[in-house]
Parts: sequence; structure tokens; C-alpha cells
Amino acid sequence: MTDFTTLSLTDLKNGYEKKDFTCREVVTSYLARMEATKALNAYVLETPDIALAAADRSDARIQKQEALSLDGIPVAVKDLFCTKDVPTTACSKMLEGYKPKYESTVTQKLWDAGAVMLGKTNMDEFAMGSTNMTSAFGPVINPVTLPGDARRFVPGGSSGGSAAAVAARAALMATGSDTGGSIRQPAAFCGIVGMKPTYGLCSRYGMVAFASSLDQAGPLTRTVADAALMLQITAGHDPKDATSLNRPVPDFVGELSAPLKGLRVGIPHEYQVEGLGADIVALWEKGRAWLVEQGATCVEVSLPHTKYALPAYYVLAPAEASSNLARYDGVRYGLRVEGATLDEMYENTRAEGFGDEVTRRVLMGTYVLSAGFYDAYYRKAQRVRRVISDEFRGVFENVDVILAPTTPTPSFAFGEEPKDPISMYMNDVLTVPANIAGLPAISVPAGLSKEGLPLGLQIIGPAFGDSVVLRAGLAVERAANFVFPQGE
Ligand code: GLN
Repeated sequence: MTDFTTLSLTDLKNGYEKKDFTCREVVTSYLARMEATKALNAYVLETPDIALAAADRSDARIQKQEALSLDGIPVAVKDLFCTKDVPTTACSKMLEGYKPKYESTVTQKLWDAGAVMLGKTNMDEFAMGSTNMTSAFGPVINPVTLPGDARRFVPGGSSGGSAAAVAARAALMATGSDTGGSIRQPAAFCGIVGMKPTYGLCSRYGMVAFASSLDQAGPLTRTVADAALMLQITAGHDPKDATSLNRPVPDFVGELSAPLKGLRVGIPHEYQVEGLGADIVALWEKGRAWLVEQGATCVEVSLPHTKYALPAYYVLAPAEASSNLARYDGVRYGLRVEGATLDEMYENTRAEGFGDEVTRRVLMGTYVLSAGFYDAYYRKAQRVRRVISDEFRGVFENVDVILAPTTPTPSFAFGEEPKDPISMYMNDVLTVPANIAGLPAISVPAGLSKEGLPLGLQIIGPAFGDSVVLRAGLAVERAANFVFPQGE
């Protein structure tokens, strides 16, 4: 059987048009690849029947010369996007057996464009984590391996299943969500592209909520061009989401080919955080040279409050999470554990349904919102958020984009992950500022660590600057010429 999983999106579209192969053949090939890479635990639910039926519908449209823009393109869906009548659990025991009665806007737009759902991908429980180890379905394994080294590595999180699936060619592209880095960090760890759009560009309708003022859906893909196309299709105003942006969607795909010449790139020295690997610093330098070679100019910029972004995030995100997760009370969704009284039923359900990390966040969130501490923590974090947003706005008066690393370290092996929660939270130090300020940011695979693990470079843009972020990302991609290392 031909392996169609190595073909790019463009190759697939051309092949369909020329009738070289059918969507059913391609989807069958992907289903076989999912089977072959099952040990990665990237999927928590495979939906072959849905996939094959969709492939046949795509084939019929292609036959009639009525092809849609994503006809026959195999997509994996992070398990926090509600899919109608298909189990959606956010990888929590709390949502065991939950089948939504409606479809998320982002996934609906993909299906309306002809995309084919292969299944639902593993993730950190309720999107809280940086390793995919907090999932109720067990960890995901990064497909990347090192020669002569038996260790296996984490894929990052929380969209670890989506990133691993794309990196392992068990999906052509996947949806993710990014509250503090959950698209960009796993993309960097797995050697693929991941983009968090401007807050509000993609609808949050039908996404299981973590921290609503930060959550944003976005693409995990093999290339920047694929990310542009997926964003083109999934973006747009949605009256069902009150925070959805009501403005026309730019032509991301068309604008990708605009020249880079004259692009002003800012290098924030505050992103030179403690613990930033020497290989990452060197790659950052290289990235700067690549952009200059293509006509950009680079200047140093200063974002002095960067160091407060992480602490502010770990006040704001848990605060919102504690409120959003109050709905899981054993009455309306998924799990219910009976008790002698109503209160006991609530307590039993929540004690049994939530994992340790989720419980920790709910406790932190409840604490920072409590009457005695609200001003000291929550209100202060809100103020920090405003200062950080203003600082970015000031910098973007002089530069078009910011170039930084995506993560302070490459992926780590199982058993070698940071053991205490605070060191684990340090993973997000370079990604959270963009969430705090609602800005678009992309991670592009750009090189390898000294050991040989993928590293990502991050481009952050001003609000609504998704197009320029993609364009600069493409320039990095072109120059980096990243080759996926050995792996499954
Ligand atoms: N790692 C971060 C956290 O645990 C980011 C999560 C996310 O972006 N969903 O909160």
C-alpha cells in the first residue's frame, strides 16, 4: 500500500485534483499510520468510520469538480473541542462518557471546508500542564528519538497529543488550544509549527473552558503555509462567543508571499531568562541573522515587566479555572459519585473526578479570589496584565514583530521532568506573555539542541498582526531548513 502520509498538503490537493489518488486511499493510509504509532498514545479516540464517510463525501465533491479547500485533508482534534455525539473529555475523568450535543465552531468550520476528522487527541487534563502527563488517559510519547539512546521524551503540553500526531504523520494537521503556551511549547518539543492567533480571532464556542480570557484555538501543522490555511478557515466572527473579534479576516494565505524587506524585528533582552540553554541562545542569534539576510532589520527592545508575566499568569489562569470548573458538580456533565447529602455528592464527585494538577489549580484559584486575598493577588495580577499589554503596545510602535525562543529548554526525558510544580511552570516563561497581552505568536521548528532534540523559535506580533507573524515565521522556516530528526 502506498504511504500517503509523507505527502504535503499541496501535494495532496494537487493529487486529488489530478485524480492520482482518492481521499479514501489517503485517509486509509493515515488510519494505518495511527495504528502503527498507537504506542505514542497521541489519540484518545479514533474515529475511522467518521473519517471514511467524510473521505467519501470529499471524493464525491472532487468528482463533480466541486472541491472545497480542505477536502480529503486528515485532521486530528484536541479532545477539548466539543464534537457532536462524539465523546469529548478534556482528558479528565470528570467528563468520562460525555457526548456533546453540539459542535465547536472551530471544528465545524473545518468540516464545512471538507476536512476529515481522524480522531480526538490526548492532552493534559483540562489543558493544565506542559508535558501531557496530567492526562487521565496517560502520557503521550514524543515521536522524536535520539540515536543510541533508549530514553523517550515528553511531547510538551497541553496539546501534546495533537503535536505528537502531526510530528508522527498520524495526522496532517491538528487543532490545539493555547492558554499559556499549549500550542507553541508542544510544537517546539515535537519539531512542528504551532500558532496561537490573536485572542478572539478563532471562536471559543464549544471549547472546554480553562481560563476564558486567555484561551485561544490555533493550528498545529507541518509547515507555516499549512498553519496559514488552517487559520484562514477557522478564524472569523462568531456571535456565539461574546469575546469573538468582529472584524474581517485578513487574507493570511495571500499575504504570506509579501516580501520581508523592511520588516522591523525586536529582540527583547528580558527573554534571556535564567536557565536558557546555550544552544537556544545560539539558535536565537541565528534566527536574527536569517531574518536580516532576508531584508529585515533587527533592534534591541525592552519589555521590563516580562518577569512578572509568569506569576501573573499563575494567579489569573487558576482564578478563571476555579470559576469555570465549578460547573462540574455531578449534576450536568459526565461523572457523578453519589453521597448521603447533596453536598457530599458534590464533594465525592469533584474529589474523584479531578486529577492532582487540576485540584491544585482550583485551590490556588479559589484562594486568590477569596475575600481576604483578592486585592493582594487577583487584582494585582490584573494590574500587571495591563502593564505588560501596554509595554508590548509601546514596543510595537517601533517594531513589527518580536523574535524570541519558544521554550527555555528542549523536551525532557520521562523521569527527568521538573519534579516540583514551580519548576514545571517555568516551561511557560517565554510563551505566557503573548497570552497575557492577547497577542498572536507562532513557534517554528528551527534547529536541534546539542543532544539532537527539536528547538523552536517564536515570533510574537501586535494584536491583529497574525499575518505578519506568519510571514516572519515563513522566513524563519525557509532559512532554517529544519529536517525532522530520527523518530517514529
Ligand atoms: N503549561 C501552561 C499551564 O499549565 C499552559 C497551558 C495551556 O496553554 N493550556 O497552564
